[in-house]
Amino acid sequence: MSYNATHGMPQRTGRVHHEIEAEPTEFISSSSTDLQAVKFLNDLFRDSARMRVSDIHFEDQEGRMIVRRRLAGDLHQHSEHTKQMSREVNRLIRMKGKRPLMDSLEPVDTSIRFDVDGRMVDVRISIVPSDHGASIVCRLLDQAKNLMTLDQISMPELVREGIRHIIRQPEGLFLVTGPTGSGKTTTLYGILQELNQPEVKIVTIEDPIEYRVQGLMQCATTVRMDFGQALKAFLRQDPEIILVGEVRDSETARTAAQAALTGHIVLSTLHTNSAAVSMSRMLDLNVAPNVLSACMGGFLAQRLVQKVCPNCRVPHEVGDYERKQMRNAGMDEDAIQGCRVVYSINRQGCDHKGCAEGMVGLTPVFELILATKETRLACEERDLKALMRAAKLQPQYRTLGHAAMELAVAGITTLQQAISLTAASQD
Ligand SMILES: [Zn+2]
Repeated sequence: MSYNATHGMPQRTGRVHHEIEAEPTEFISSSSTDLQAVKFLNDLFRDSARMRVSDIHFEDQEGRMIVRRRLAGDLHQHSEHTKQMSREVNRLIRMKGKRPLMDSLEPVDTSIRFDVDGRMVDVRISIVPSDHGASIVCRLLDQAKNLMTLDQISMPELVREGIRHIIRQPEGLFLVTGPTGSGKTTTLYGILQELNQPEVKIVTIEDPIEYRVQGLMQCATTVRMDFGQALKAFLRQDPEIILVGEVRDSETARTAAQAALTGHIVLSTLHTNSAAVSMSRMLDLNVAPNVLSACMGGFLAQRLVQKVCPNCRVPHEVGDYERKQMRNAGMDEDAIQGCRVVYSINRQGCDHKGCAEGMVGLTPVFELILATKETRLACEERDLKALMRAAKLQPQYRTLGHAAMELAVAGITTLQQAISLTAASQD
C-alpha cells in the first residue's frame, strides 16, 4: 500500500491518482467521460471472474470494438461497442496497468489485480497495436481458486483412484489433454501437491510457471532452453517426478517417454480431443510403439462444463428427445429411465451467491484410460480402435460426453452442454 505522504490519505482527484493511491481494487473514473466505461469494465471483470472466464479479448475492428470471452476453452462474443468506448477502455486498462498511453504504437505486457467477492484476482494483460487500434487480451489468473488438491477437484472417485494408482507407480507417463482453459494445469498441480513430500524431488518445466509451490524445483522455458532441452538437463538432476508443461515436438515426446521408462513419473499435456488420441499423437511425434506401450501410465482428457445456478435453473421434463441424447452419449437404460427432469440456464440470473447470468462457475469432466495389458498391446500395434475398446472395459472410463451427460442428469450442468461435448468427442 502506498499512501500519499503529505496528505496521508488516498487522493481522489487528478489524473495521476492511480499512482499515489493505495492500490485500487477496481477501475476508477478519472474524467466525466469515462463513467460508462468504468462501470462496463468493473461489471465485465467481476462477472467473468465469477463465471471462471479464462480470457477477455477487446478487439478493435473497423468502426467498432468487439469483446469476446474464453469460457471452458471456447471463445464467445460478449458485446459490441463504439470507437469512443474502445478509446476509454484502452485508456482505463493502460492506466490501471500503469502503462502510459504513449506506448500505444508498441506491444505492451502488464498486469493488474482486482477484487471479486473479497478475493484478489490477478490479470495478465497483453496489448498489441492492430490495424484498427489495438487488440487487448486479459488472462484471468485466479490462483487462490484454482490451486486445489486432488481431493478438492470435483471428479468421480473411480477417476481419482485411477489417477492415484498411476502416480504411485515407480515410473510411467501420464498425459493430460484438452484445449487451453480446460483445467489441465489445475489437475496436474493437484497431483504435484499430493506428491510434494520432503523425500521426493519434483521438477517442473513450464511456459510460464503457472503456480509457485514450495518444495518444487520450477523453471520456465526461455528462448535458449525449450521443453526438450530443459527436460534433458533436469534428468541429470536426479528427480523422481517431472512435469513438462507441454509435449509439442518430437524431441520432447521421445525424451519424456524415455524418462518415464527409467524410474521417473513424467506428467505432461497434449493438445488432442480425447484421451485415446493421445496415443496417436505420441506415435506421430515419433515415439516408438514399443516404448509408448512400456512407459504408458495413463491418458486423461478433460473439459470444463458450466454449472447451472441451483436457485434459478429452469426445469424441463425429460421426453423422447432428451432420452435419445442420453442414449447417444452412452448412458445406460436404467439411468435414462430414472431421469425425470433436466435443466437449462436462466440467462437473467438471480441474487443467489455466485450466480452470474444463471451460472455458478465451471466443473470438470474427465475421460481416463489406465494402462492395462490390452491398452499396451493397442499402443504396440498402433491400433486406436483397440485402445478405445480396451478403455471401455475399464470401470472408471467414460467419454467426455458421457461424463457430462451424467452431470446433466444430476442437474449440475445443462443437457445442451452434454450434447455439445458428445458431438465434439465423436469428431
Ligand atoms: Zn441464479
